[in-house]
Amino acid sequence: MNVFAEKFADIKILRYSVPQFEVLDPKKKLYIYHLSQAALCGRDILWDQNNRYNLRIRAVLETIWTTFSGNRDSESFKLFEIYLKRVWFSNGIHHHYSTEKIPAGFSDSFFDELLAKSDWSDLSIPSGKSFESFISEIRDVIFNPSKEVKRVNLESDKDLIETSSNNYYQGVSQAEAEAFYANLKANAGPEPVSFGLNSTLVKESGQLTEIVWKLNGKYGKAIEQIVFWLNKATEYADNELQKKYIRSLILYYETGDLALFDQYSMDWVKELAGEVDFVNGFIEVYGDPLGIKGSWESIVNYKDTEATKRATILSQNAQWFEDHSPVNPEFKKTEVKGVSAKVIHVAMLGGDCYPATPIGINLPNAEWIREKHGSKSVTIENITQSYFLDSMNNGMLEEFAGSSEEIERAKTFGYLAGNLHTDLHECLGHGSGKVREGVNTEALKNYYSTIEETRADLFALYYIMDEQLIKLGLVPSEEAAKAEFDAYLRNGLLTQLTRIEPGKDIEESHMRNRQLIARWVYEAGKDQNIVEFVRKDEKTFVRINDYQKLRELFGQLLKEIQRIKSKGDFEAAKNLVEDYAVKVDRHLHAEILERFEKLGLAPYAGFLNPVYELKTWPCGTPYDVEIRYDEDYTSQMLRYSADFGLLPMVN
Ligand code: ZN
Repeated sequence: MNVFAEKFADIKILRYSVPQFEVLDPKKKLYIYHLSQAALCGRDILWDQNNRYNLRIRAVLETIWTTFSGNRDSESFKLFEIYLKRVWFSNGIHHHYSTEKIPAGFSDSFFDELLAKSDWSDLSIPSGKSFESFISEIRDVIFNPSKEVKRVNLESDKDLIETSSNNYYQGVSQAEAEAFYANLKANAGPEPVSFGLNSTLVKESGQLTEIVWKLNGKYGKAIEQIVFWLNKATEYADNELQKKYIRSLILYYETGDLALFDQYSMDWVKELAGEVDFVNGFIEVYGDPLGIKGSWESIVNYKDTEATKRATILSQNAQWFEDHSPVNPEFKKTEVKGVSAKVIHVAMLGGDCYPATPIGINLPNAEWIREKHGSKSVTIENITQSYFLDSMNNGMLEEFAGSSEEIERAKTFGYLAGNLHTDLHECLGHGSGKVREGVNTEALKNYYSTIEETRADLFALYYIMDEQLIKLGLVPSEEAAKAEFDAYLRNGLLTQLTRIEPGKDIEESHMRNRQLIARWVYEAGKDQNIVEFVRKDEKTFVRINDYQKLRELFGQLLKEIQRIKSKGDFEAAKNLVEDYAVKVDRHLHAEILERFEKLGLAPYAGFLNPVYELKTWPCGTPYDVEIRYDEDYTSQMLRYSADFGLLPMVN
């Protein structure tokens, strides 16, 4: 199997392999298959959540792609193809990372030619609209730069809802939404449901109402199919507890009752014995500037027993790490509960995890469930492996590493250190620390995600250099930690800037957190020259002069970040993020972009899913599943739209 599949615009498409799938027990393969079907059924939900025009635009673009009878070899048609591929990749018209509207790249007049030479007989226009009015609305969204400008706006001086073109709120201002949910929370007990997670908030004749995403509700047609496949999957579940939580999940999808989702989450956290596992639902809240609405996602996975030993050692020692952290004792957990960790291979990515995918997961998100019942944490080994294989040969390391020693260290220890960082971040970092009683995590508002990711990263950075890791047999020497420090600062100060357009600031939470940490330690260690920028052949590099002192700085910052989270110190969060995480050094940025461009690489990556084929006896009973890796990007996207295009264009 070839890891690299194709490249367009700023995107490369990779493949992940599903190790040992062929030799899994057939029952497990069937379990994975049915969960995978459920993972693909929510795709349209995410498209509609991202923007209300997305499903319409996708239908139009795909109709053109499949039926256009004009010259398909022209430059303009190639630009159209790139646009379509970008829209597929982002699950809509906004860039998956910057969340800004993707420019069409082809002209408005070429759009006329595309429309005229395509066959529209199979496209059913939403009722009450003529073809002309339907198209003119879409044309405006695609070509007018002042329409649907940005999916998620985090610039706090403006109304975050009005300036964000996601589809989570309709006719509601930020102040109204905040008041609505603050009120619900004020009246809830110490174990509140995740208010607003599974609904659109709308204003109808002056009243705020939630339109719930559930069977027989909004997105019901897709949810019906998710439920259908989840039901089938229970037959093959690894154990009774899995069956129980799948039933809770189904009931939640049927009723929209968020208490059932909490019930599901609590059982899901407890279930550790099974080999196959999955996430399916409205989970992460990054698509909503207020951090309330959950975008739909799914991941199906199974355990890598060997690599899980590594993560298990960490989680078994969770209390030791908590006790020895540099955090103020008041904000430490006296008893760390159920931080389970495992290393997994994904078998299917869906919704907000596809094609761009996380490399680690830590769920559930509800703070009280995490504190009372713990959380489940995973590192996705087959994804990180694909990244590593791709990165060792693309020239990035040679261009941006400051010395041959650094390159050697990265090649020898980079993969292990990177995985260990993810383990520490996910299974200890997010699970660590305690919030002061009465403090709500929403106190940090739009800075919460950045602060939380900063906290987890710092925990990982601080501990990766701890002797305890060598004692536990997780790293062979301090060199692994050095490789991670090199990589982290190289990325946070230099290479992640390749993802930012000239003149723009940093907005995405994870990128903000990386720059926050890297810039802060650079500034804080300036007097002692702990980290420095060096110039060589008119190029800028980062050099770490004292790794131990750098570690101490990570510890200092961790202490402060934990204090901010524990006390809900909004002002301090704001100052740190605005001072260190947002602004880009224009001069350095231009240099990095120029060096990066010469390498001819794409800054973002996503993954194709394998194709699973169900094997059935002549009577219809399934007995096995076959896996293939031969589907290309365009075929996969078109197949998903055809087979899993479950929602109408307007919801
Ligand atoms: Zn994280």
